[in-house]
Amino acid sequence: MKYFFFLVLISCAQLNDKPSSEKIIVNFNKASSWDSGAPERAQWDDHVNHQFYDSFSYLEKKALRLVHQKKWALPRVRGPRFKSIIQNKKERTKFCQQVPKGGMLHVHPTGLVKRSFLKSLIQKHNIMVNPKDLLKLATDGPRKELRSNEVDFLQNLPAKKFLSYSDAEKQKLLDLMFFKLEQAPFSFVRFQSIFSMLRYFIPKTEKNEFQIIKSFLIHARKLGVTYVELTDVFDYPIDFTKLRNKTKRLTRETGVHLRWNVAFIRDNNKENNIKLRDQLLKAKKRDDIFPILGIDLVANEDASTALDHWNIYRPIIRKGILSATMHAGEMGNPNNVRDALLMGVDRVGHGILAQKDHLILEAMALLKKSIEINLKSNLLLGVVPEIKKHPFLRFHRISIPITFSTDDEGIFETDMAQECLLALENSDITYNELKQIYFNSLHYSFARKELKRKLILALEKSYLEFEKKWRLKSN
Ligand SMILES: [Zn+2]
Repeated sequence: MKYFFFLVLISCAQLNDKPSSEKIIVNFNKASSWDSGAPERAQWDDHVNHQFYDSFSYLEKKALRLVHQKKWALPRVRGPRFKSIIQNKKERTKFCQQVPKGGMLHVHPTGLVKRSFLKSLIQKHNIMVNPKDLLKLATDGPRKELRSNEVDFLQNLPAKKFLSYSDAEKQKLLDLMFFKLEQAPFSFVRFQSIFSMLRYFIPKTEKNEFQIIKSFLIHARKLGVTYVELTDVFDYPIDFTKLRNKTKRLTRETGVHLRWNVAFIRDNNKENNIKLRDQLLKAKKRDDIFPILGIDLVANEDASTALDHWNIYRPIIRKGILSATMHAGEMGNPNNVRDALLMGVDRVGHGILAQKDHLILEAMALLKKSIEINLKSNLLLGVVPEIKKHPFLRFHRISIPITFSTDDEGIFETDMAQECLLALENSDITYNELKQIYFNSLHYSFARKELKRKLILALEKSYLEFEKKWRLKSN
């Protein structure tokens, strides 16, 4: 019996034994001070484990987990007005369309093609379709594949002009490039095959690219978005003057402030990556590379780890004129989020796999490193089995700044209103929390100070009107 009381005492002590924030920060920075060149994987793991993970005792780690779990479990109260909006499908749909949303920080232009745009383009030109070519493009190489029923379909389909196919065949052809929720989850290699198929149908012309981005921005503006960061794969060399002009025109014609992040591809194009890095490193000041604000690392995390891209990230981060985000913790090595943060990124794309690593969660909360959340993308690609199990709200509730975005909204057939609905219908998010997340999308954007201030003021104003119209209050 005595022994039992002793155990209870120890567990209570653990609950209150919050590990010191200072210790987390100090150890975190110590581990990220390695700047002399890319370390070997084993060296790095040894270093990080020794400096960072091993310097926390088992009890401290356990206590931290308990503190987080306690915060997640705190009951949240939705105001009666917000509750009634959510309970009514028509109301919550309207709410999600009208609620001011600020920025979108995780969007790829290559994934913005909408079904309607593609269909009208193919029909207009009555494109000659050779299914064997399409199949080859979609499956050529180790990083792309189709499902076996899709392979059968293409193998048995005769080559014809698009308009000569039956309606069912046309539909099936288009379905290859858009993911349906009923057929989810899709593997990442299946996802990657889409981009080759899209290129088969849509010639890579400046006019097409401009049109696709413009119609996306117009739609986003209607849903209350005022700022977008696009992560794009650029051909070397980047023509900054041309990009500046295109950006100005798009901003002027849509009312959305547009900025760019340069995507480095994880698993191919190594040479292009190095050339782009060197071009960015040549810049003397921010204006030289404007409207590019940051860098990102994209594609299949199974193919390479965060650390494999040390040679791109460290010199650019050290130079200090570009911000950095990285797709990490979507799949692949669970240490990618930790390693990306230690390498010095400001934000993380997806970040799901960090959910079990309480030290990293605490460090992100304290260092205010934000996570770009894309709910439907995570669902379609099987990163989470269902939205109810998505950790976005848990991240938010332990003070990690999260933002909402759409990733590849054409392919995933989503938009900011639908992402809002997914959040409302599958969690107990409160109005205050939702509003905070939309403000985060400007606070944690890479926009310059003046623009950021201007957009935040405008968002505050939009909320005054919105809350008056919807009879909502926040605190
Ligand atoms: Zn992405």
